[in-house]
This record gives sequence, structure tokens and C-alpha cells, in this order.
Amino acid sequence: MTTHYTAPLADIRFCLYDLLDVEKLFAKLPGCEGLTRDTIDAVLDEAAKFSQTVLAPLNETGDRQGCTFDKSSGEVKTPEGFKHAYDQYVEAGWAGLTAPEAFGGQGLPETVGAPVKEMIDSANLAWGTYPLLSHGATEALRVHGEDWQKEAFLKRIVSGEWTGTMCLTEPHCGSDLGLLKTRAEPNEDGSHAISGTKIFITAGEHDFTGNIVHLVLARLPDAPKGVKGISLFIVPKFKVGKDGRQGERNAVRCGAIEHKMGLKGSATCVMNFDGAQGWLIGEPNRGLNAMFTMMNTARLAVGLQGLALSERAYQNALSYARERLQMRALSGAKFPDKPADPLIVHGDVRRMLLTQKVLIEGGRALGLYAATLVDIQHRSQDAEEVKRAEALVSFLTPIIKAMLTENANECTSLALQVYGGHGYIAEQGMEQYLRDARITTIYEGTTQIQALDLLGRKIMQQRGEGLQLFLERLGAFCARHVENESLKGFISKLSALAKEWGDATQAIGMRAVSNADEVGAAAFDYLMYSGYVALAYAWARSVAAAEASPHPEGFKQAKRLTARFYFDRILPRTRTHLAAMQAGGDSVFALPDALFG
Ligand SMILES: Cc1cc2nc3c(=O)[nH]c(=O)nc-3n(C[C@H](O)[C@H](O)[C@H](O)COP(=O)(O)OP(=O)(O)OC[C@H]3O[C@@H](n4cnc5c(N)ncnc54)[C@H](O)[C@@H]3O)c2cc1C
Repeated sequence: MTTHYTAPLADIRFCLYDLLDVEKLFAKLPGCEGLTRDTIDAVLDEAAKFSQTVLAPLNETGDRQGCTFDKSSGEVKTPEGFKHAYDQYVEAGWAGLTAPEAFGGQGLPETVGAPVKEMIDSANLAWGTYPLLSHGATEALRVHGEDWQKEAFLKRIVSGEWTGTMCLTEPHCGSDLGLLKTRAEPNEDGSHAISGTKIFITAGEHDFTGNIVHLVLARLPDAPKGVKGISLFIVPKFKVGKDGRQGERNAVRCGAIEHKMGLKGSATCVMNFDGAQGWLIGEPNRGLNAMFTMMNTARLAVGLQGLALSERAYQNALSYARERLQMRALSGAKFPDKPADPLIVHGDVRRMLLTQKVLIEGGRALGLYAATLVDIQHRSQDAEEVKRAEALVSFLTPIIKAMLTENANECTSLALQVYGGHGYIAEQGMEQYLRDARITTIYEGTTQIQALDLLGRKIMQQRGEGLQLFLERLGAFCARHVENESLKGFISKLSALAKEWGDATQAIGMRAVSNADEVGAAAFDYLMYSGYVALAYAWARSVAAAEASPHPEGFKQAKRLTARFYFDRILPRTRTHLAAMQAGGDSVFALPDALFG
């Protein structure tokens, strides 16, 4: 292994215990009351060990070998060691970590599952994509599945015996699911015959498990056109009877795997359904709703993938910057006994490292905050609290998905830059992170789709309920800390931004009334602006939590000074995004298509 990985347990624990006070939160959440710090720590320690010792060593070999496809059998072989690692994962009970106990899971909250996932993905993102979709399938089946489906499929997915997939994309239909053509014809026994081609299906075929459970979007014969005519079906690779027995091979086959830029150990499959037996999940023509249950969890999970890659790349860039000697500091030699100073003394190398550090630690704080909201949404008995958590999760999901993955592109690129030419050389292992990160802004809804979801749906259609709640919390935090010396300079900026955010949202809303294209023209800048303000809030909260914690002074100082870099050097990016939003859509739409070139 040419790059290293050490799970960032200290920062994860800081987020859980000091920033988010999960012990207090869990004490009042049904199903989590008995969860002690010792248990959580034990889970985190074991996950760190598994990630570092089992998964991390397979990351580079997995990238080099990739998956192989046997055309005659339609089978996919994953890179060496991947299946054995999966067996160990299942054996240790990781597959059902956050799944409901009623179906054989361990019922741990998402707030504990999220850092486990981060560690797995840092160690080996390609491997992490295989169990990823099982998590989403579990959610969809739990919420929308019939009892026999839960018995027959859910328990085996939760145990890790089988894995799940999510089959949406077709050759002509990606972001626009309304275009999908896959058909579902009713059979006499109550099942459906599914026919069509799905592409880019992650883990559509592999050698980990004896069966693979596809969750497939398709159209019933009389379905209305567009997204209102889509239903969700469960289509196993091997048929499964209502008694749960696994039967003969179903008519679904992998037709090819993609050769791609990164994530080479993850099988990206063309899946051909040729009258395959499928079972409807949820109501007819309401498949998109059911799929959204999966998609929100999956979108937050992809945000964590971005965080995970940024963390791994940063750790290596930091070590390199401490060791590599080049030139002297501009203000004079810092290590006169050495032939040159290490890279870390140089201003722009420090900027690159600090940029990664603030985006990672801020992103982790924000991502785990969202995980606590998901737990409240799923477990609280207080209907008002559930409603608020739901609105906040729905508002934060596109921000976290897009921001943490856009940041991953920036962070992995900066980490490579810290290595100079050596970063560009495959043997160093750094270019893999950049290649692997590139997909995260594309799948599970591109950044553009997240931006439209945020501004078009969550703000315009839902009247910004989530934004209002978020701003209320931000405002209450500012009011509480206005006298806090350690937050000097941060609170006034945050308060001003909160007001500006609300005003900017209103201004776009006004323009959109007369011209809906204004939403599309502003959406990306609005999303990034929102992301940077949300990260500023996460950083200010982190400083306050560190100050109030029993951590040593060095830890508190690191949080304080890193936050200062965020506020001084990264937060000003909101100026550009605001100016772009305020400029409106005229210049975006003025140039006739024919004059583009
Ligand atoms: C490695 C990999 C794994 C994948 N795994 C899965 C999987 O497991 N299951 C699955 O179903 N799919 C999967 N996908 C598919 C993925 O989700 C889609 O590629 C993605 O949703 C984008 O769809 P598209 O590629 O058709 O691009 P298009 O939808 O054609 O979009 C092309 C470009 O136009 C932009 N765009 C489109 N519409 C708008 C708009 N209205 N406003 C602004 N911009 C717009 C997009 O952002 C993008 O930049 C995977 C893809 C890859 C490459």
C-alpha cells in the first residue's frame, strides 16, 4: 500500500460527544436509550480496525485489477480479496448495523452508522459501493414492502446474505426519470414480468453473494406518462417464492460492465431484464415516492463518500508536506540543519492543506448533524419534533450531497497538487482518489439536480420551511454566543449571512415569479452559497463545542485557528456566489444556442 489511512477517531468522537452531545440525544430516543459511550466507542474502534487492516490494503490492488466480466455466463468477478473482505464484514455483523432489530439488524442509530461508513469508504470506496445499496433497499422494503417481502428479502439483505441494487438509469434516461421505458406486465400469480435495459447499475452483478435483489423502476401497462406513471419492483437474480425459498434463475442478466475513470473495483453493470419475475413494492404508479425513501439515505451516503475520499487524500498530503524538502521559507530557513525546508512551511502549501482540513472537519460536523436529524425523524415520539427534523433533513440533503462531493473534487485535487509531479504518477496512489471522487458529484443525482432540488423544490415549492428552521437554529446559536470571546468575529459574520441568505432567497423567488428560468440560472450558486454558510455554522458550533469540552488546549486551539482560516479564506467565496445569483439569468440565456460555437 503506497498511501496510508488512519481512521480520524478523535475528530469523529469530538463530533459525536462534544458537538452533537449524542449521549443526551440517544437517552431520549426510543431504541437508543441503552446505548452507552463505551458501546459506541467499541463499534468505532472495531470499524477503524476493519477499515484499516482489511479494506485499506485492497484499495490500490482493486483499482489496478478492476472487475472482470465473463460474457458467456454473464458473471462478474470482483478484484482479489474483495469477496473475502465481504465475508468478514458479514461475519462481524456490519451488514445490519443500523437495520431494524425486528429483521435481524442491530438497530444502531444512523449517527453511529455514518462514521462507520465514512471509515469504510476512506479505506476502500469501490468496495464500499457493494453494501451501500443494500442500506437503501432495506429502507425501501422496511417502509413500503409487504410482510412476506420483508420476511423473504429484507432479513437476508440485513444479514448480508444477499445485497441490493437500485435500478433507475436507462440509456436515454438519467436525470429525467419521467422518460423511463422499462415495462412491467402483470402475471397471473400476482407478480409482474419486467422487461427493459438498465445501465450503470452499481453492484448489479458480482461474486459476493448467492442472490442479488434489484429494486427496479418500471411502467405498468396503463401507467400515465412521466414520473407519475412509475412503479417500483423487486426483482431477484434468483427467483424467491412467497415462502422465502430461493428458486430458479430469473430472466435478468448482466450484459456488460463499464470501463471507467475511477471506482474500478466497483462493478457498474448493464442489466437486461427479459420478462423477469418482479414483485410490486408499494402502490402502483407511486414508485418514485418509494424510491425517494432510498434516495435520500443514499444521497447523504454519497456525501459521506466525498468526505471519506477527502480525508484519505488529505492525510497523505499532510504527511508528504511534512517530509518532502523543497526550497526555503520566504522569511528565512525554518530547518537550517536540513538541505531545504519541508513543503509545509510554504504559504500556498499551507493554504492547500488548510483548505482541505476546513472542508473535511466542517463537512464531517455537518454530515453527522444531519445523521442526528435522521435519527430523530425515524425514532422520536414527538410528532412536532419529527416534523421539524424531516423538514431539516429534506433541506440539508441536497446541500450535503452536493457540497461534500464538490469539496471532494477540490480536496483530492489539492492533495495531489501537494505532491507535485509525484501526485500525477500512478505508483504514488494519489491520482486514484481524484479519479474515484469524480463520480460522486454525478451519481445519485448530479450537483445540478441537487441544486434544482434545493432551490426549485425545497425552497420554492415547499416555501423554504427547512431554510426557516435552519436559520432559526443558526440565529439562536448566534444569540447564545454573542458574548463568547472564542467566537469573536465569527458570530457577527454568521448573523449577517443569515439575514443575507433570507434576502437573497426572497429576491430569487420574486424574479422566478415572472420567469421560471431564473431558478435554473441561480440554482448552482444558491446551492454553493448555502453550503458555505452551513459550513460556517458548523465551524462556529465546533469552536464553541471544543471550548466547552474537556479536550486539551491544543485541540481547542486547533479548532479555533482552523475555523479562523475558514472564515477568513473560504467563506468569502459566498461573495462570488451571491454576486452571480444577483446578476440574474439574463446573461445565461442571452446567447442564442447557435452562437455557442
Ligand atoms: C459509476 C456509476 C455508477 C452508477 N450507479 C447507478 C446505480 O446504481 N443505479 C442507477 O440507477 N444509476 C446509476 N448511475 C447513473 C447515474 O445516477 C446517472 O449517470 C446520473 O443520474 C446522471 O444521468 P445521466 O448520466 O443520464 O446524465 P444526464 O441526465 O443526461 O445529464 C447530463 C448533464 O446535464 C445536466 N442536467 C440534466 N438535466 C438538467 C437540468 N434540468 N438542469 C441542469 N442540468 C441538467 C446534468 O447535471 C449533467 O451534467 C451510475 C453512474 C455511474 C457513472
